[in-house]
Amino acid sequence: MNPDHFRPNVPYSPEPRFIWPGGRKCAVMLCFDVDGETTALSEDMALKSRITTMSQCAYGPRVGVPRILGLLEHLSVPATFFIPSWVVERHPLMTDAVIAAGHEVGAHGHLHEKLAGLSPAEEEAVLGKSLEILRKHLGKHPAGYRAPWFEINPGTVELLGCHGFQYNASLMGDDVPFLHPNGLVEIPGQWLLEDWEQFAFNADPAWGVIPEDCDKVFRLWWREFEAMRDYGCCFVLTLHPWLSGRPSRIQLLERLLTGILQCGDVWMATGSEIAAWVRDHPEARREIDFDRSPP
Ligand SMILES: [Zn+2]
Repeated sequence: MNPDHFRPNVPYSPEPRFIWPGGRKCAVMLCFDVDGETTALSEDMALKSRITTMSQCAYGPRVGVPRILGLLEHLSVPATFFIPSWVVERHPLMTDAVIAAGHEVGAHGHLHEKLAGLSPAEEEAVLGKSLEILRKHLGKHPAGYRAPWFEINPGTVELLGCHGFQYNASLMGDDVPFLHPNGLVEIPGQWLLEDWEQFAFNADPAWGVIPEDCDKVFRLWWREFEAMRDYGCCFVLTLHPWLSGRPSRIQLLERLLTGILQCGDVWMATGSEIAAWVRDHPEARREIDFDRSPP
């Protein structure tokens, strides 16, 4: 490095990582993981007798989702709702309302099972059960999958391909989408853009830490959005209605989405829209990993 080459007034402006439709600078995928009561039940079925804990979880599908749908309609923003099939059965009219509003519904386990604890046969049985319920309710096969807790097993990508999924939204190794060898699209996320780390709290069982100040969270997410827009990335925000459906957080989301929309150059898209773009435009991705094996 030659210090004479230092250019103090020239901002670093790398090539965009991805070419998005219509020349837009970045993509935004807004995800709502409607875990509801399975947040507790997947940890321990005995928690069903913890009425206050269960009521906090149920706040998501009962109060959070209607409020979220109202905001999305007001702003004309599409979203992707990943819903465990147990929640679909428990809250069928909530699920109908999400579908009627034109949003996408993706698979998210049956009882929000952690995949790491399942054998390949158990994992396939859970996936099959959730698909059967979702297909019946949606009237079609869901396009996308988000693993509970984001964690997948070595065989999950192959399994999703065999079961007709178009995309997975569970990995974290990139900030733009990519194609798995079996043709499944991956839309990666990250813990920074998740509300559990910011807002989750329950006394017993102990979940989360201290619910964060919405202004701090706005700065955290807005700064990442601005930078991802500069870098041509895919901003995947994952929210849980039992957390982000609370009033001050809905206003945080409104502030964030309004700022994003005011940019005028952002592609707000569902998971299946992003997956279709990625499949149809393999040249859109700019590879920067020095050690990536040739396709
Ligand atoms: Zn979840």
